[in-house]
Amino acid sequence: MKTMHKEHTLTKNQQIIFDLIDKSPEPMKAYSILFNVQKKGIKAPPQVYRALDKLVEIGKIHKIESRNAFIACHNSSCRVAKATAFSICEICEKVTEISSAGLSKYLANFKDKDGMKYSKYNLEFFGLCKKCR
Ligand SMILES: [Zn+2]
Ligand SMILES: [Zn+2]
Repeated sequence: MKTMHKEHTLTKNQQIIFDLIDKSPEPMKAYSILFNVQKKGIKAPPQVYRALDKLVEIGKIHKIESRNAFIACHNSSCRVAKATAFSICEICEKVTEISSAGLSKYLANFKDKDGMKYSKYNLEFFGLCKKCR
């Protein structure tokens, strides 16, 4: 399975859905994605879910689990689609992908007390953004 997101050729549906999420100023919920792509002719929800799964798998988008929403990857150094970290503002719900070499490196080398290392993580940090502070 590929976890790198180099140059993937997207299918037409994947491209439509990616563009939609990429243009959205905030993470998009699945129902909102469904609603918007129906206007572009993708009518069947399974088609949309399949495309979303694929986009997540190749790292073009990430899922914000606590919000059940999707956001385009804006972190060019984010090479591991299954290792992501986000800051989420508790007031305005602004979501930012954390791009920190220090954090990635720390987590890549991190072991728990039994020596288990982690190949995936999906971290969400909550606080107040600059605007809301
Ligand atoms: Zn990313
Ligand atoms: Zn805020």
